[in-house]
Amino acid sequence: MPAKRQLVAPGVLMITAPNPGPKTLEGTNCYLVGNKRQLVIDAGPDMPGFQEELAASTSGEVVAVLLTHDHPDHAGGAPYLGSLLSAPIWINQASPSGRLAGAHVLAADQEFAVEGNSVRVIPSPGHSWDHVCFLREPDRILFAGDTILGEGSTLIAPPEGDVSVYLDSLVRLKALQPAKIAPGHGPMITDPAEKIDEYVTHRRQREQELLAALDNPKTVQQLVDEVYGIDDSTVCELAKLSVRAQLAKLLREKRVEEITSGRYRVRAAS
Ligand SMILES: [Zn+2]
Repeated sequence: MPAKRQLVAPGVLMITAPNPGPKTLEGTNCYLVGNKRQLVIDAGPDMPGFQEELAASTSGEVVAVLLTHDHPDHAGGAPYLGSLLSAPIWINQASPSGRLAGAHVLAADQEFAVEGNSVRVIPSPGHSWDHVCFLREPDRILFAGDTILGEGSTLIAPPEGDVSVYLDSLVRLKALQPAKIAPGHGPMITDPAEKIDEYVTHRRQREQELLAALDNPKTVQQLVDEVYGIDDSTVCELAKLSVRAQLAKLLREKRVEEITSGRYRVRAAS
């Protein structure tokens, strides 16, 4: 299956990897930014033919392969792509998976200049601890990786996902006033402020629903059944991870307690 290609802004080519799924939507979006001098944002999964296709889509010298985070659907293909393009790979902090040993380390606010544009590193932990977004100036396109998706909501899963840290990142991203969001999965977002508000509201709503359900002691499975009400087993596993992440936040804030192993309830006022 050939990758889907779409020119989403002047000098921004979105290339979607053929790895569709419940977490990846249509597949992972990789971006070629610039024309004669280019940046790659995310290398996609390590899939036969995909990195070759990315390399064949370039129209100039690739000066850097930038990664939003070290999950395999974004970074898996980076070592091979880097060697195909003879381009350096950049990621925030030392790569936890070890697959990117030797990659360059991004710094907050570091800028990459290509053809009158600059692409700036914006730390945005929450989905993963190492996650960064990239803001292109002057048109303020935010390359958001898995922090904000074109459809649905992003998965925050423990131990590396953290709901409080994630909400803080969303607030900081909104303050940047992006004009458009180029997400790691799903279509371009043309109303960033509304979308980010929607994300924050969604998390807060889920939290309220969990707190309401935790009036009586419940297990994670019972919470998923009551709050999410889904029967698809794959989606159910994702919902469990999401509930665990929300519980971790509420436990830390001492608003919920674990009463017996695996059963939780709202903490009685002391
Ligand atoms: Zn992803």
